[in-house]
Amino acid sequence: MVRIARERIATLFALAEREAATGQPELADRYVGLARRVGTRYNVRLLPEFRELYCRGCSAFWVEGRTVRTRLRSGRRVRTCLRCGRTRRSPTREARPAVASAVESDRPSVPRDDVVLAELPTEDESGDEVEDETEEG
Ligand SMILES: [Zn+2]
Repeated sequence: MVRIARERIATLFALAEREAATGQPELADRYVGLARRVGTRYNVRLLPEFRELYCRGCSAFWVEGRTVRTRLRSGRRVRTCLRCGRTRRSPTREARPAVASAVESDRPSVPRDDVVLAELPTEDESGDEVEDETEEG
């Protein structure tokens, strides 16, 4: 039942998107309302990508510029529903992988060939554990 509910929610959002783009926008809002009701009926959370698409106050399907206004305000994304005026704030994600990798690569590579070799158990000749053998220079 849960799986069917999820499929139905996805279908309803697809329909809502289509109606909002080409057909009757009020139908899109109706589809959103139905999808939310299916979710509550079967205790299924709407997927995050769906939750971005509508107003939680009035279930209006959000179309940028028509039913929602998006503004960036002090590092946040503020979206105002143009139908009921409800606002929703979400942080703008700033992934900073460049800094982390820079720190990682800044770490000096320790020339520890001698240390590793000295600490290796001499009776084990399989060489499975020697994975750091990077020869530099
Ligand atoms: Zn609204």
